[in-house]
This record gives sequence, C-alpha cells and structure tokens, in this order.
Amino acid sequence: RHYNFCAGPAALPVAVLERARNELLDFQGRGLSVMEMSHRSDEFVAIADRAEADLRYLLDIPSNYKVLFLQGGASMQFAMLPMNLLGQGGSANFIQTGIWGKKAISEARRLGFNCHVAASSEDNGHTAVPDENALAISSDAAYLHYTSNETIGGLEFDYTPRVQRADGADVPLVCDMSSNILSGPIDVTQFGVIYAGAQKNIGPAGLTLVAIRDDLLGKAPSSIPSLFDYQMLADAGSMVNTPPTFAWYLAGLVFQWLKDDIGGLEVMDDINQRKAQKLYAAIDASDFYTNPIASRNRSRMNVPFVLADSSLDSVFLQEADEAGLLNLKGHRSVGGMRASLYNAVPEEAVDALIAFMADFEQRRG
Ligand code: PLP
Repeated sequence: RHYNFCAGPAALPVAVLERARNELLDFQGRGLSVMEMSHRSDEFVAIADRAEADLRYLLDIPSNYKVLFLQGGASMQFAMLPMNLLGQGGSANFIQTGIWGKKAISEARRLGFNCHVAASSEDNGHTAVPDENALAISSDAAYLHYTSNETIGGLEFDYTPRVQRADGADVPLVCDMSSNILSGPIDVTQFGVIYAGAQKNIGPAGLTLVAIRDDLLGKAPSSIPSLFDYQMLADAGSMVNTPPTFAWYLAGLVFQWLKDDIGGLEVMDDINQRKAQKLYAAIDASDFYTNPIASRNRSRMNVPFVLADSSLDSVFLQEADEAGLLNLKGHRSVGGMRASLYNAVPEEAVDALIAFMADFEQRRG
C-alpha cells in the first residue's frame, strides 16, 4: 500500500481494513456480511453498542451526554445545530478561523437564524487563532460554535474557549472536531456539543458523530424534520431510519484499533505530536518550503506548505505520487501542498515524505 496524505476521505488503519476484509462475506459465522444485516438484528445492535461503548471509553464521555451516529456529514450539522439549539430563540455565536467555520455561519444565516461573529482570525489571514480574551459574546448567545481544527488552512486551537455572557450565564460550547477528533484526549465536559464527519479519524464517509449534553436536547420546534431533531434521534438510538450500518461497523473497528492496538488516546497524541513536529521542523529548516501558521496554532493533523517556486507544484505532486506519497495537493481554494497526518498515517509515512521533500529540494530547489 502507498502512503495516503488525503485530507478526507482519509487513510484507514491497515489492521481495520484487513479485519473488515476477513469478515466481509461472513460476519462471525452468521453467513452474511454486516452490510446485509438488519440494523435491528441482535448482531448489528451488538456492533452499534460496542462502538458507542468504545468511543465513550476513548473520549471518556460522561453518561449525561448522548452519542449519535448520524448521516449527512458535518455540513448537515451546520443546519441541525441552529435548528435545534435556537429553537427557543437567541443567537448562534461563532469564532471564525477559516473556511469550515465560515460555512457553518453561512448555513445558519441561510436558514434565517441570528448569527454573531464573536471573534475571527480573518484579519491575520487565518494564521493565528484569536486570543481567548478577545471573544465578544452577544448578550443573547445560545451557544458558541468553533472549529477546533481548520482542515484547509491547517489552523488548530491550542485552548478550549470558556465563555460566559455578560449576565454570567454559561454559553454552551459547540465544536466542529471533524479533523482532529480522537487525535488525542479531550475534556468532553467542557462542551455542549461535539460533532465530526467520520471520514478523517473515525471511518468511512457517510457517518457523522455527535455527542450532545442532555440539557441541550428537546429544544427543537416540532416543525423541523424528525431526522433533524436531536431528541428524536437520541430516543431512537440513532435509528429513526436505516443508519449507515457498514460505516458504523467500520468506525467501531477503528475505535477498537485505537483502544487495543494503539493503547488509547494519550499514546495516539504522542505519536501525532511526533509526526507533526518532525514535518514542521523539516519545513522550517528549509528555505524552499514554507508554512505560514503561528507555531502555537499549527495543526497536528493538516500541514499545508508552499514551494518557493510554485511553477514546480505539479512536478512535485507527480514525483511524490510516483514515490508512493499520495494526495499531497493543497485544497483547491488555497493551492500549494497539504499533508494530512491523521491517526492512520504511520510515522514511516512522514519519514518518507520528509526524505522525499529533502531530495526534491536538492534536485530542483
Ligand atoms: N468541518 C471540517 C473541519 C471539515 O474538515 C469538513 C470536511 O472536510 C467539514 C466540516 C465538512 O464535512 P462533510 O463533508 O462531512 O460535510
């Protein structure tokens, strides 16, 4: 297999793919594939329950949070969040640090909800996260939304915002963790809602995870579709309709891999720190490659970089591809390169990339 640096859908652990292959035609002697099972069968309910239990264990999710396995991607949460959490009025507050945060705001605005940008890194070109003390929360804030890791810009928060309104009320924190969930331990109790599209650190595209604190359920007006209503989804164990069963099963295998093969999120965190640090060190040591992000906010998951001579971009990508280093092209909106170093990207892949970059610079720089 080649090394895959894709930002998403991203690399999956080889051990997970091998296990899924072994179980593909005959799941544990049942004589059929997980893909072919009823989502109401005992076998699938056991798969679903185990996946949730392992996720709760990994992230230490307390019992007053519901975990939902949904569809529609993280983008559907951009709509579901205000539809549910603003059901009783108020405004959505945002910290905007890049393209995904911006999309979350436009979707809420498109639906006619009151939105307020409490802080933005627009003025520094999204190269540093706004200072924690610079948040201007509106007096009617029902929640504060932010993107803990902006996948395209490669900008990651180095703190968890803690916010109160001027009247002293705590403002629930809502976090889009699509591209850094499970990359290391987090304190779930600091959040009202955590959500993530699966296709980076969780599993295949088609599944979306939501962890929501109980007191934030039941706020949606009855006029919204039942499939958008967190309370109804929670009451039905995420099975208001047929869930993406195979993606759910694969996510469960990824959780088992993180628990049993890796040894948990603290170990994963150390590995991720090491991978990112060595790549940033190689970039910083060279005059040929540049990453513009403030060092405290450099993403451990997505490392964008540009070449000193952008006319070499296409040859860089072609040679990288030939060397088995896939999907290094930066997002179409920003250009340049981006190496995504999610959990399933092994340290050897980063070493191979660094060696390739040094060799390319020597030959072409
Ligand atoms: N939020 C972040 C941080 C992302 O990186 C992405 C996709 O890459 C999305 C949201 C959108 O996710 P989806 O395609 O699952 O809707």
